[in-house]
Amino acid sequence: MDADSANFSSEELEIEKKLRPISFDDFAGQDKVLENLKIFVQAANQREEALDHVLLHGPPGLGKTTLANILANELDVNLKITSGPVIDKPGDLAGLLTNLEERDVLFIDEIHRLSPIVEEYLYSAMEDYRIDIMIESGPNARSVQINLNPFTLIGATTRSGLLTSPLRARFGITSRLQYYTTELLSTIIERSSDILDVPIEPNAAIEIARRSRGTPRIANALLRRMRDFAQVKGEGVITLEIARFGLEALNVDEYGLDEMDNRILTTIIDKFKGGPVGVGTIATAVGEQGGTIEEVYEPFLIQQGFLMRTQRGRVVTDKAYTHLQRDMPHRQGG
Ligand code: ADP
Repeated sequence: MDADSANFSSEELEIEKKLRPISFDDFAGQDKVLENLKIFVQAANQREEALDHVLLHGPPGLGKTTLANILANELDVNLKITSGPVIDKPGDLAGLLTNLEERDVLFIDEIHRLSPIVEEYLYSAMEDYRIDIMIESGPNARSVQINLNPFTLIGATTRSGLLTSPLRARFGITSRLQYYTTELLSTIIERSSDILDVPIEPNAAIEIARRSRGTPRIANALLRRMRDFAQVKGEGVITLEIARFGLEALNVDEYGLDEMDNRILTTIIDKFKGGPVGVGTIATAVGEQGGTIEEVYEPFLIQQGFLMRTQRGRVVTDKAYTHLQRDMPHRQGG
């Protein structure tokens, strides 16, 4: 659940819940990450101990919240969900932690946005399952130590670069989620259409998958819109024709690039002659943080071959010129 969930209505959030995998077996892709997590969960279950703390990082919509749900299910414990900016003061964190039962999972989304004071309190909680909280204030102020049940903290972040090193060091398990291939996304789309009970042709699933920016959340969102097109403009089946028509109507980029992706490429071409240009300069020009460009947008653009990282800065590729219908400059040398 990232900020972009806010764009969804409550009904859509309900559907998103229905589509969310609940066990390791339902979760497509991320094989390496899953392989390790399965072993750690099995070991923790055998020892009847809390799973070590887990840090999940990667761009929005790739399955961090989903994995937290799955881990809690596979550990057969409760899951409490919160997010960095919501935990205002140490007392809020203490309230959450003291309510955890043995081996429970506390999921903190956007953990890079915890306030420094709250983060300090988290250190001893993670390390020794204990917190010291201050009660009363002024001359009567004193610190009280509270012992916690052993628990697992799962932290999720899109911006691992913003995590402080003491916090990062307290996670025993760190996993980075990768963008999904078209094949995997089309498997996810077919599974979702089964759950939503809407028939879809395999080549339509591939077409939607291709334009989903490597992201299951986008794939599922597009599928729901295609279901509407199939119902109103077709015969209830998502055919390739319906998918193409619907994607066109929604202005979905042929490669699944979103508005910011395209803005980054256009800016490099129009203002910086295609590069090389530094991330900081690109960031200022498009009005986004440099770190967000590096951790959220750039990986996809590089993976798809629109952008290259060179020692002198970022350079757009010929594919970007073609895609944005810009004239290619005459390049000198390499
Ligand atoms: P994040 O927390 O990384 O932003 P989420 O876990 O909220 O992403 O995933 C968004 C949606 O995408 C979920 O509701 C789920 O339905 C779907 N999803 C994510 N990963 C997978 C996966 N590996 N297999 C199937 N569906 C997935």
